Amino acid sequence: MTVKKLIKQIFLIEILQGLALTLKHFFSRSVTRQYPEEKRDIFPGSRGLHALAKNEEGDSKCVGCGLCAAICPSECIYIYTSEGEDHKKVVDRYEIDVLRCVFCAFCVEACPYGAVVLTEHFEYSDYNRKAFYFTKERLLDNWDKYMSGQKGENYLKNFWGPKSEDFGLTAKSGTGDKKSQ
Ligand code: SF4
Ligand code: SF4
Repeated sequence: MTVKKLIKQIFLIEILQGLALTLKHFFSRSVTRQYPEEKRDIFPGSRGLHALAKNEEGDSKCVGCGLCAAICPSECIYIYTSEGEDHKKVVDRYEIDVLRCVFCAFCVEACPYGAVVLTEHFEYSDYNRKAFYFTKERLLDNWDKYMSGQKGENYLKNFWGPKSEDFGLTAKSGTGDKKSQ
């Protein structure tokens, strides 16, 4: 053992240093927030609860292509489709098991229509697991609740890419129409 170490042990230097640090923090400003009374600002574009976007007619933009489900690392997106009129694909069910989601937003980035989004809403705790299983209807409701008006449009424009245009699709979406050249 070196002399330096011996002195440290005899005079309990490290313990005193630790106590001095604790004492110093007694008088510094607290950084703990008293949630939920105190809330911090939500940054625009933050990743909260999912929603299914609506088009101008108020219908779901989702065409059931399944890209979001294919890319989802948690495999928590379930899409059920059937054939409708004129062989058009109909999205019968679109469901997300939010408890398994890791909020990576890959689904948002993969969607060519901006049909699935992560809203800024993050306060949705519950005692029941079922509350976190979001059906198509609930996801569409989330759009109305958290992305209504210009908000949804701004959100997709400012925070998410690639855009519909990058795939050669109309931004209007949901129709699968090709952009006129
Ligand atoms: S945010 Fe990530 S984990 Fe969650 S549903 Fe989308 S792709 Fe899956
Ligand atoms: S949300 Fe987008 S990527 Fe997912 S199925 Fe619908 S259109 Fe396809």
